[in-house]
Amino acid sequence: MNDCLFCKIIKGEIPSTKVYEDEYVYAFLDIAPQAPFHAVLVPKTHIASAADIDESNSFYTAKIYEAIGKIAKAENLEKGFRVVTNCGEDGGQTVGHLHFHLLARRYLQWPPG
Ligand code: 5GP
Ligand code: ZN
Repeated sequence: MNDCLFCKIIKGEIPSTKVYEDEYVYAFLDIAPQAPFHAVLVPKTHIASAADIDESNSFYTAKIYEAIGKIAKAENLEKGFRVVTNCGEDGGQTVGHLHFHLLARRYLQWPPG
């Protein structure tokens, strides 16, 4: 857990551009944006991936979706947005701390590649 990149970002040990923060959630701009607006939302507790969400920690995911609504209003994303969680090797997850990509301000193709 000490080596977790997103735990370090939450603690401020690695700098990030904050988009939103509360007791349970931290959101920051992605370093390699895939859309004109691309934030990453993480729970302020180490959960490895979406496969590790269970009854003991699903509260954090609820708080993340509450935060998404607040960010969408604050950032005027009324045209829409996409929330993506990559999980595991086939899902393309590269950082082992549960996170939700919030992508907006361009038309997003469906299905993704
Ligand atoms: P994943 O590929 O696991 O779904 O998403 C990880 C995301 O974290 C990627 O979009 C990547 O650009 C972003 N990322 C990786 N390292 C850093 C960093 O040091 N700072 C920020 N702001 N984003 C990062
Ligand atoms: Zn972590």
